[in-house]
Amino acid sequence: MTFPPDLLPLLLRTSKLAALTGAGVSQESGLRTFRDAQSGLWAQYKPEDLASPQAFARDPKLVWDWYAWRREAVKAVRPNAGHYALVEIEKRIPQFTLITQNVDGLHRFAGSKNVLELHGNIQRVRCSECYTFAETWGDDSESVPKCEVCGGLLRPDVVWFGEALPRDSLEAAVEAARTCEVFFSVGTSGVVQPAASLAYAARNRGAVVVEINLEPTPLTPKADFFLQGKSGEILPALVKAVWG
Ligand code: NAD
Ligand code: ZN
Repeated sequence: MTFPPDLLPLLLRTSKLAALTGAGVSQESGLRTFRDAQSGLWAQYKPEDLASPQAFARDPKLVWDWYAWRREAVKAVRPNAGHYALVEIEKRIPQFTLITQNVDGLHRFAGSKNVLELHGNIQRVRCSECYTFAETWGDDSESVPKCEVCGGLLRPDVVWFGEALPRDSLEAAVEAARTCEVFFSVGTSGVVQPAASLAYAARNRGAVVVEINLEPTPLTPKADFFLQGKSGEILPALVKAVWG
């Protein structure tokens, strides 16, 4: 794999790097991205119609079951070479922030330390009313499990369409984007806000924007470097090319 010649020395001397990742980074682990067609039982639903407070209010059991299915899928997969390359990058860059839209927890599983999970984590379950986290819950096939404290319905601790992002993580992500020297946008279609605006925030403050994606996105014309291909191939090759 060959990289643009100016990219390698730039990365070698960078002391502050922020990376935003999306569902594409986990695709090679076997997890579907949002834009991929849903399969089997769920093919008739659009994720947008299942991942929202309205959907949960309308049919909580349907939404619970969809997440239960995805939770099992996440449990069965492992990080891929792209996740591990980001762990290597963190070891080599003095200030590194990994901002992820993924809810699968694979970055931490791989060993990344400074991770901001903007959209929550699918393995955590909490009360939809009082926010109490649940460690265990009964799963009968009839109804959504309930909170032990207040009796409210349990839900996954993820951010649904139309919901606010966790404030602390978002603030830290904006700060990292505004102050980094290099910003990576990896495996994200760049259409889900506010995460999508982070690359622009970085660019407006003078950061070099590097995009890694299978396909061009709305960000591509604004990126300083666009590396087209699979993140599980490009990221490890980049680590090797820069740090040997
Ligand atoms: P997206 O589905 O909108 O876009 C995925 C992007 O990744 C696309 O641009 C695609 O071209 C690219 N891509 C696919 N395979 C790739 C690969 N191997 N290497 C590099 N790029 C690849 O995902 P998004 O931008 O993350 O936004 C959708 C929302 O979906 C997010 O809010 C996220 O929370 C949620 N989501 C998360 C997961 C997960 O946790 N694994 C999975 C599906 C959706
Ligand atoms: Zn409760």
